[in-house]
Amino acid sequence: MPGKKVCIVGSGNWGSAIAKIIGHNVKASNRFDPMVNMWVFEEMINGKKLTEIINTEHENVKYLPGHKLPRNVVAVPEIAEAVKGAKVLVFVIPHQFIAKLCDQMKPHITEGTIGISLIKGIDEGPEGLKLISDIIREKLEIEVSVLMGANIANEVADEKFCETTIGSKNEANGLIFKELLQTPNFRITVVQESDTVELCGALKNIVAVGAGFCDGLGFGDNTKAASCGVADLITTCYGGRNRRVAEAFVKTAKSIAELEAEMLNGQKLQGPQTSAEVYKILLKRDMVNQFPLFTAVYQICFEGKEVKEFITCLQSHPEHM
Ligand code: NAD
Ligand code: 13P
Ligand code: CA
Repeated sequence: MPGKKVCIVGSGNWGSAIAKIIGHNVKASNRFDPMVNMWVFEEMINGKKLTEIINTEHENVKYLPGHKLPRNVVAVPEIAEAVKGAKVLVFVIPHQFIAKLCDQMKPHITEGTIGISLIKGIDEGPEGLKLISDIIREKLEIEVSVLMGANIANEVADEKFCETTIGSKNEANGLIFKELLQTPNFRITVVQESDTVELCGALKNIVAVGAGFCDGLGFGDNTKAASCGVADLITTCYGGRNRRVAEAFVKTAKSIAELEAEMLNGQKLQGPQTSAEVYKILLKRDMVNQFPLFTAVYQICFEGKEVKEFITCLQSHPEHM
């Protein structure tokens, strides 16, 4: 049987780092086709198409500069062409673009295709929160696993050791993805609680924004840890983009949107937007008071609330009353 064709849907910072791993691993396994497509949202870099740069220089010079991508990873600007013949889809784009992209992919999806989402974010659904993997499941009618962990893309690309979790309701699929993605320095645990894994990965980005506020305000480690939990939270609260931009937000008079554009060169923050999506749901459910950190991050990012009041919000956490 020919190997399954893999398509990486996305090519930002994390998409490019994971492309390094996937390109390498497919060559070592006979389960997968040795050529991998990577869908690239086309843009011009100094007068040249990003896809052409990737396919000639084998480097995503904008989103993961300084790292060579394996030559069997082919950048494709047309989504229809990228997914053609693919049986394994790896979703790794900022969550705000997923619904539209799935609509474009749908006519090209064939029976037996499976997917995995590396996307951290949530959406609002009719009954409250909606998982990004559910958007993919519903729109493409395929089984979708998720992968989330304390995985800053640049560190993974540098092959610095880390751990991650695949959540897969279908155990066999989870193992296929483990074969595709695990390396000696990227260690994978497969669990069945897919929704929990995905939620933790999405919500930690809001906490990271809070951690950046603490740093910007000059509070100590105890203050920052008061808002933290486990691995991914810790990593994102020290090394992540959400944290970095939030710190700059406190230290400059600029908006989150301005700072995102200025500091991230096209990379996208997920924390502020996730806080807005969560806030809408909390309002509807009359639960705002039970989530002071999420609420404070939202109000500071979008409603002009003074960042100086951030700690006050945490002081009145219902858990402590
Ligand atoms: P990124 O933020 O580095 O880059 C943004 C990407 O979005 C670029 O590839 C850009 O071309 C693309 N884009 C811009 N406009 C678009 C449009 N209209 N439609 C579709 N795509 C468009 O991307 P990333 O870091 O790969 O993030 C993808 C997901 O991975 C996010 O959910 C993020 O939370 C998650 N994640 C990131 C990291 C990390 O360290 N970067 C680690 C773990 C998880
Ligand atoms: P940032 O998007 O804040 O950089 O976080 C990356 C991440 O999810 C690390 O696990
Ligand atoms: Ca569940």
